[in-house]
Amino acid sequence: MSSAATTTYVLRGARPLGGDPVDLVLSGGVIAEIAPVGAARAGSEDGETVVVDATGLVALPGLVDLHTHLREPGREDAETIESGTRAAAAGGFTAVHAMANTTPVADTAGVVEQVWRLGRDAGWVDVHPVGAVSVGLAGQQLAELGAMADSAARVRVFSDDGKCVDDPILMRRALEYVKAFDGVVAQHAQEPRLTEGAQMNEGVVSAELGLAGWPAVAEEAIIARDVLLAEHVGSRLHVCHLSTAGSVEIVRWAKGRGIDVTAEVTPHHLVLTDDLARGYDPTFKVNPPLRTAADVEAVREGLADGTIDIVATDHAPHAREDKDCEWAAAAFGMTGLETALSVVQQTMVDTGRMTWADVARVLSGAPARIGRIDTGERAQGRPLEVGEPANVTLVDPAARRVVDGAGQVTASTNTPFQDRELPGAVVATFLRGRATVLDGTPVPAGAGTRGVRA
Ligand SMILES: [Zn+2]
Repeated sequence: MSSAATTTYVLRGARPLGGDPVDLVLSGGVIAEIAPVGAARAGSEDGETVVVDATGLVALPGLVDLHTHLREPGREDAETIESGTRAAAAGGFTAVHAMANTTPVADTAGVVEQVWRLGRDAGWVDVHPVGAVSVGLAGQQLAELGAMADSAARVRVFSDDGKCVDDPILMRRALEYVKAFDGVVAQHAQEPRLTEGAQMNEGVVSAELGLAGWPAVAEEAIIARDVLLAEHVGSRLHVCHLSTAGSVEIVRWAKGRGIDVTAEVTPHHLVLTDDLARGYDPTFKVNPPLRTAADVEAVREGLADGTIDIVATDHAPHAREDKDCEWAAAAFGMTGLETALSVVQQTMVDTGRMTWADVARVLSGAPARIGRIDTGERAQGRPLEVGEPANVTLVDPAARRVVDGAGQVTASTNTPFQDRELPGAVVATFLRGRATVLDGTPVPAGAGTRGVRA
């Protein structure tokens, strides 16, 4: 039998949620003990014990991404479930939701089960497939939502992400349908007519550059419509990658009214602005587009005050030929799994706007709850308490690193943070007590525990 299942890890001196140091003992797949530093009973009946020096490291519940593009099936040249989930583990994640815009589209029980199985076999993180709302993402006909929910993949999140469910009748039907199994519709809010040919945020910079603009209202109009639809049918709505100050205001209003809406912001929208388009570097071409400094300030404020529930990566790897071309021809999207935690630390923690407990909420607890993966044997996003599943991420907040896309674990190099220095580094990740990352390096299942600093 592999040592992985029986190895006990003592995370000596770890600081849960940035609090006082303790010994965190992971054994039998759960958090077995939390003891004063140096007091943990090292040793288990039938396996080895590895002591990890976690002095100065912050312990977080394993991160959960509600919005990842793994590209398999169909675009294995950009990413595979293997490479994408390994990158997720390296970024501190223990679960990801895999978006449905693959080839074929994840709009049937067969496809979501395939993705779920490939994720399970890869073993880096729990993979939860997102099901498409409409057949082929075509926006015409409702996909087999019930069959996907009842499948082995137990789909609870449905999204046509990449495309907006712009037909209000179809959106209403989807919202009504998912109520039967406590699902949620995650909307990519982009009014298609208002964004035809759009290349970047509509504003001063787009006017200067002569690139077709993407107005804030194209996002805000859909969000406004959808919160009202969600209220009307009494269903759950999730807003993907909200990016404008007006969108924050609408979600704040909806929550104040008691509407069951949640929202996400991406790391890149927390820090980057449309000024970056001036260099015509397609690395910065993304959907929704980078907005203005005022929008960045508004989404930071919305995340800090709870209007925005979670940070989701929208990790969107692309093959080189789809990014190494002129701006107008380039694909939308950027990678994010391996930089998300650092960007949140830089923009929210190091600025004093959020605590590490808040980080655990927006990157683990809340996304797990929205995806309904916070209960049961494979529960994610749980508090760091004795008896809970041992999904733990150790981060060194004092570390500094210069991002190099070519050196990342993801198979694609389209990081918007190339050559930038970011704070924080994931030192270790544990999935139900098994180390998937140690000393910052992914550890394949069954590789044993060599290389551990003890
Ligand atoms: Zn999207």
